[in-house]
Amino acid sequence: MTPRFDNSYARLPERFFARQTPEGAPAPRLIALNRPLAVRLGLDADWLAGPEGLAMLSGSALPEGAEPIAQAYAGHQFGGWVPTLGDGRAVLIGEVVAPDGARFDLQLKGAGQTVFSRRGDGRAWLGPVLREYVVSEAMAALGVPTTRALAAVATGTRVVRDGFARPGAVLTRVAASHIRVGTFQFFAARGDDNGLRTLANHVISRHYPEAESALDLLRAVTAAQARLIAQWMSFGFIHGVMNTDNMAVSGETIDYGPCAFLDAYHPKKVFSSIDQFGRYAYAMQPQIAAWNLAQLASCLLPLIPGSEEEVIEAATEVINGFAPRYQAEWLRRMGAKIGLAAAGAEDLPLIESLLNRMASEGADFTRTFRGLVTGAARDEFTDPMAFETWAPDWQARLAREADPQAVMARANPVRIPRNHRIEQAITAAVEGDFAPFERLQQALAHPFDPDPALADLEAAPWPEEVVKRTFCGT
Ligand code: AMP
Ligand code: MG
Repeated sequence: MTPRFDNSYARLPERFFARQTPEGAPAPRLIALNRPLAVRLGLDADWLAGPEGLAMLSGSALPEGAEPIAQAYAGHQFGGWVPTLGDGRAVLIGEVVAPDGARFDLQLKGAGQTVFSRRGDGRAWLGPVLREYVVSEAMAALGVPTTRALAAVATGTRVVRDGFARPGAVLTRVAASHIRVGTFQFFAARGDDNGLRTLANHVISRHYPEAESALDLLRAVTAAQARLIAQWMSFGFIHGVMNTDNMAVSGETIDYGPCAFLDAYHPKKVFSSIDQFGRYAYAMQPQIAAWNLAQLASCLLPLIPGSEEEVIEAATEVINGFAPRYQAEWLRRMGAKIGLAAAGAEDLPLIESLLNRMASEGADFTRTFRGLVTGAARDEFTDPMAFETWAPDWQARLAREADPQAVMARANPVRIPRNHRIEQAITAAVEGDFAPFERLQQALAHPFDPDPALADLEAAPWPEEVVKRTFCGT
């Protein structure tokens, strides 16, 4: 059974995108198919795994009803304005409506050049494709809003990266939509108020049907981002490239490039090789989200009724609301990590004291918090006294909680996609051994359940295994 497409974005005015047939692959081979996700979307997993499905997932031949387009967008990259970016390495093949009525984009990432490719080849190699597959699915299993990975296909071609010919691959990415802050910027920068209005209405009907105005839309996106970033922080996730073109207005995590989960906790931690000044360091993420939202706000100004002064004041008030909202979300989630069902402002010093000790002792983020459940947290500190001198205040506070163990067990995963394990899985896959990738992915599908057989995936890296740098891999 072929997917039934209903392509609302392709029905928008032609200047929103470029029609774009994917280049296809000479010898496609299915590497991974996300069957549970296929079911969720109402797609026929057996059809996807068959020859017609493979042709679609590799961009070689699209079924009836697909309308491949490359979406136009702009963006601030590391703070620098770029008026035209767009899908240079991705093609949106269409939208499917799931049995529950939810609408999803199907996008092929790495299916060849588009009008937006500039000097790029429009391709992806196996490493970043598997990386995005593993990390985005791990995020979904942790309960973090995210784009999903439906399939990974090897193309049979080679892609040159860093002077090496690497195996080419295509990822099928699924998203509530791929509309970004940068999509709004594309129209705003061109003074295209009609385009902005059309886009805002599209986003409202698709993601925020309760919003009645552009200001409501801004409020909704701000709230969604405050929740999202608080979740990232609570799991030690560093996105790594929070450009405005990599922030989805739906509130889903998008664009898994140089992202990474913390091993040892440090607020200033940066993994991305291209983030030289730490603009997107772990602790910078809330501030950067607010900055990106301010860019969205300035795009929406022409759609908000009132005098210039009133409009700016109203939008500013919404953006200023990000910080307290984020702070409340963060406190709730971080409180849960230490066993508090409903942490209040008075609990902030306790949480911060633990984080400070973790930072100065190089404690592993995930293992320390999980260790609060199992009683092994002190082992994560170089000097266990750093933990022992915090624990009494914590214990005293827990005495007022009904079931702190259960609260912590739900908030603190056992397993995260650790950088060194991802890299090991990629190295093996390049050599033709997909078993480590399969195992990693299956283990990360139930991140809160302890499993002695997976102890190696729960361990922190040995010093020689630590991954210090991650790459976009474009
Ligand atoms: P990213 O850093 O992945 O968010 O990508 C930023 C911009 O570069 C987007 O417009 C991408 O479509 C484009 N891009 C990234 N990699 C490639 C590539 N291999 N070929 C063409 N365009 C690319
Ligand atoms: Mg991007």
